[in-house]
Amino acid sequence: MPPAPILAGYLDRERDRILQDLVAWLRIPSISADPRRESDVRASAEWCAARMRAVGLEHIEVIETAGHPAVYGDWLHAEGAPTVLVYGHHDVQPVEPLDEWTSPPFEPTVRDGRLFARGAVDDKGQVLVHLEVVRAFLTEHGGLPVNLKLLVEGEEEVGSPHFDHLLETERERLACDGVVVSDTAMLGPDRPSMCTGLRGLVALDVVVRTAEADLHSGSFGGAVPNAAHVAASLVAALHDADGRVAVPGFYDRVRPSPPPRPERSPRSPSTRTPSGGPPGCGP
Ligand SMILES: [Zn+2]
Repeated sequence: MPPAPILAGYLDRERDRILQDLVAWLRIPSISADPRRESDVRASAEWCAARMRAVGLEHIEVIETAGHPAVYGDWLHAEGAPTVLVYGHHDVQPVEPLDEWTSPPFEPTVRDGRLFARGAVDDKGQVLVHLEVVRAFLTEHGGLPVNLKLLVEGEEEVGSPHFDHLLETERERLACDGVVVSDTAMLGPDRPSMCTGLRGLVALDVVVRTAEADLHSGSFGGAVPNAAHVAASLVAALHDADGRVAVPGFYDRVRPSPPPRPERSPRSPSTRTPSGGPPGCGP
């Protein structure tokens, strides 16, 4: 039998245990933005490392950073096959305002067949699926089809302030032929999805000052530039009428998009929003 049905059978059989494991991880409030949760983020890293060990990964290490720890594990016995690095993170976003949660964020609860908790789909659920697929492959096939490295960060939700340094210092250990960023979404419960592109972001503070002191609007309004107007025109100038970035040089190192791929499956949705309206809008 080819790998996919065997894996599906394994995951079906193990579903309840996997869910229990996920629930245990989700109970750890690994909020990287909250200094009071430092020991919880570490506990989450240790939990992840123990799980890596349990599924059969090797060279497992909780990697210290100047902030919260990351976790590494690998399986490197697929001689001649490519090496794939899977990236994920074990920290979660803050949970306030608490009164808007239907069930408490760190008490995982199943409603309508879905598991609700902070981090369930960002990103502990995804990471755990990778770990369980490793276990399934090793149990059912005795090996993986590729060499695999897993890097599970602990500071993604605070902008990865120490990740650059970690990548530099761990350059050799993390060497690979391809990276899978497993911090993305599925289009639906029965629609396995692969994300082939993500946007980045840049954050900065800009202070606009047009006068040394507060000026009376009746006397100086119109004659002296208004800082709010200047700030608005600065922001407006970042894009042209077609939505392209208008910052000089921005596209110099941007590679052109590959041509669209033909639909792989008749069930592939033509939109990102199969239900519930546009992103960010409630049903
Ligand atoms: Zn994430």
